[in-house]
Amino acid sequence: MLDKIKMSEKYSGVKFKTIFREKSKIKHKGIEKLRHWGRKFTELDLAPKIEGGFAGNLSFRTHRGFIITASVANLSGLNDDDLVEVTDADVCLKHVFVCGLKEPSSESFLHHAIYVRRADINAVFHGHDKLTLKFNDLLNFPVTEKEQPYGSAELVNDVVKILDKCKDYYYILIKNHGFISLGKTMDEAGNEAISQHKRAIELNKQAK
Ligand SMILES: [Zn+2]
Repeated sequence: MLDKIKMSEKYSGVKFKTIFREKSKIKHKGIEKLRHWGRKFTELDLAPKIEGGFAGNLSFRTHRGFIITASVANLSGLNDDDLVEVTDADVCLKHVFVCGLKEPSSESFLHHAIYVRRADINAVFHGHDKLTLKFNDLLNFPVTEKEQPYGSAELVNDVVKILDKCKDYYYILIKNHGFISLGKTMDEAGNEAISQHKRAIELNKQAK
């Protein structure tokens, strides 16, 4: 079953145009916490290594928008220039407006759509957990309808459909791809990902 769970698409950069409103380093008191969770995700293999970086992206809400990890950022040791503040996004024109020095994560539209819809949510963490995907029949998470290319409008739409169904989801699976954990705080989003991972580890032990 596990071998069916693989992303068929190789990472080839962001699928939007980044418009820099300010090309400077981002400063924010929340950055240290994001660094902590980036490290934690790589340690637990919730953001596996890919060419040039790690497969996962983490963000938290700010008063101008949200601060997110850059495309192919080193999540195990985020530098100041690996963080980008997204201040706006235009899905139709495929434009993402930012302050920072690098391109933001390829999933910036996904994070943007979640913050727009969930006023209660201040942190969005996306990672790849093979075990929660493998045992979803038993864990019963909301899961998107079908496999979609990363960073695509189709993927965002499928997640939005789930969000519109229920305002109480904090852990959503993206079919054959990964998870999104949501929290009022970064600690909540991070701990949610870990606790669901632990449940799947238990099921994996029982299955052996
Ligand atoms: Zn992903």
